Amino acid sequence: MPLDPARTVAELKELRELTGDENGAQRVAWTETWERARGWLREKLDGLPLEEEIDEAGNQWWTLRGASDRAVLIGGHIDSVPNGGWLDGALNVVAGVEVVRRLAEDGSPAVTVRLVNWADEEGARFGRSLFGSSAAAGSMADQDELRQRRDAEGVSLPDAVGAHDVELDRALEARSQLEGAAAYLELHIEQGPVLESLGLPLGVVLGTFGVERHQVTFRGQAAHAGSTPMDARRDALAGAAKLELEIREIASRVGDGAVCTMGGVVTRPGIVTSVVETAECLLDQRHLDAHQLAEMLSNAEAASRRFAQEEHVEVEWERIWNIEPILFDSELIELADESTREVAGESHRLPSGPLHDAAEVARAGVPTVMLFVQSLRGLSHTKLEDTKEEHLELSVQALDRLADKTIARVAAG
Ligand SMILES: [Zn+2]
Repeated sequence: MPLDPARTVAELKELRELTGDENGAQRVAWTETWERARGWLREKLDGLPLEEEIDEAGNQWWTLRGASDRAVLIGGHIDSVPNGGWLDGALNVVAGVEVVRRLAEDGSPAVTVRLVNWADEEGARFGRSLFGSSAAAGSMADQDELRQRRDAEGVSLPDAVGAHDVELDRALEARSQLEGAAAYLELHIEQGPVLESLGLPLGVVLGTFGVERHQVTFRGQAAHAGSTPMDARRDALAGAAKLELEIREIASRVGDGAVCTMGGVVTRPGIVTSVVETAECLLDQRHLDAHQLAEMLSNAEAASRRFAQEEHVEVEWERIWNIEPILFDSELIELADESTREVAGESHRLPSGPLHDAAEVARAGVPTVMLFVQSLRGLSHTKLEDTKEEHLELSVQALDRLADKTIARVAAG
């Protein structure tokens, strides 16, 4: 049976009917609707010569045994955010089903091929993303904290996952699944506007951004708005305001996709009759290159000290969170580029702002690459999320080509 990309589109619509409502997709992990989606996925693969299992973290695996035990993994997640779109997550596993069908029809592949549906990529119910993939990658280091997490109804995370036969204490045993993994492939909607703005259906993902998040606090002196002359003020907001404008310059100077955002400023005392005494700023900086990210950070720190001096205030930095950039495999990026050019004529390489399961797998040392397909208006995590059907079909073809090329490469290596 040849690859039938139109079937993927039809199946995605079927899944939308089965697990969505007038507000969008409702496949939130660890719910009945999610379990229905997982059962549906299982039915789609019924009758193929696959071994099926669910690991200790709740990830679903289907294995097509090949001549070698070394495995090419194709993955994604079927869970969605509440009121989500029809494609985020689901496209990657449903396209994976079509590729595995085609491979199974062709007989036993040169290496083993495994399809994985990661459990709870979105973290929508408990605020912890990448649950299943981080367990398999061995990077789930926050089990003590996860034990305390509760959803909006007060249900604890261990109880919620337990209802789906996952024991939190044993989740890390899912690590054994990545033994023998030689490559990991994931298709995803872009969830941003870049490919649409370039008029391209498909792109190849270079990796996921490193992130530096800080709270930057400027401290001056509260003083009466009427009696304090302009040249006698120690206005904390003046420092913050200068920094907000400067981070845009820093991002454009560093370039290569750099983004800097001052996502919030809280001023105190925050009344109209007082000069601002403290301004607490939340700063988010992202880059695909670790050195350039570090440069952006040190530039912003230096600028903040200069502005503090100019305004006769103090400044203090506190790190909230950070993660290093995660780069995908250069050989697989080449293969993905080739596959994309073959089906779409042109390819484009771009970083990913959002994290994905692929980042966890790459972090675990498995050579990884992702394909992006254009998102209309860059929208995602809303029922308005959409992609042209012809582009969805191209993306299934590209994933199929990439799977073949990767199997050949792993078999040869
Ligand atoms: Zn996703």
